[in-house]
Amino acid sequence: MSATILCYHKVGPGSEEGRRLNIEPSRLKSHVRFFARKKCTFLVAGDLSGSWKEGIVCFTFDDAYESTIVHAPIIFEEAGVRASFYAVSDRVGGRSDWDGENSRPLANWDLLREVQQRGHEIGNHSQNHKHMGELTPDEQFAEIQNAHNRFVDERIRPRSFCFPYGSHNQATLEMLQKANYSVGLALGKRPARREDNLLSLPRVVVAYSDALPMLLYKIVLKPKLRKR
Ligand SMILES: [Zn+2]
Repeated sequence: MSATILCYHKVGPGSEEGRRLNIEPSRLKSHVRFFARKKCTFLVAGDLSGSWKEGIVCFTFDDAYESTIVHAPIIFEEAGVRASFYAVSDRVGGRSDWDGENSRPLANWDLLREVQQRGHEIGNHSQNHKHMGELTPDEQFAEIQNAHNRFVDERIRPRSFCFPYGSHNQATLEMLQKANYSVGLALGKRPARREDNLLSLPRVVVAYSDALPMLLYKIVLKPKLRKR
């Protein structure tokens, strides 16, 4: 049993968002249509703690950039699919200052609430977007729990946690459990398997230049080639 968990960042016209961590809306649309035609089962990440069927696909978007929240949900809704968007609680409505000179506007609470209401998942991407694996366990717990409390105050209901930069260690998983999370998302260049730890599931990063053949290579062929 496996689940292909795709990791995207920005979704917007290249003229506005450039190529860095961005994908054109038309390209995202072709990815969604491809998996819909294959009759895949689409889950939001929070639902990965339940039972798995064959052919699960999960679309996740880190950072909740304004461009993403404006362009992506409608593409999923046209296909009857729901996706997961991960916000950084202390930066909502601000800018992605961790991107340095490439910082971009982030969606505000109103936008996030609207997208949640439309059936998508707004997940926890920490309070400050730090490398979790470099923090003490107490600091990690604060990053998870403070963010969670803020989300709840803003009527957002996160059901999964996504590690900034994919960074985590054993303590991160323990602190996630302590905060009552059962799904954590890391990075991993291969589909997730049912026997993987649900608190650190691997995701495949999708880049600007990933047209469908390259995407398929990444999620289907490359993991098999590596096994040999
Ligand atoms: Zn991030």
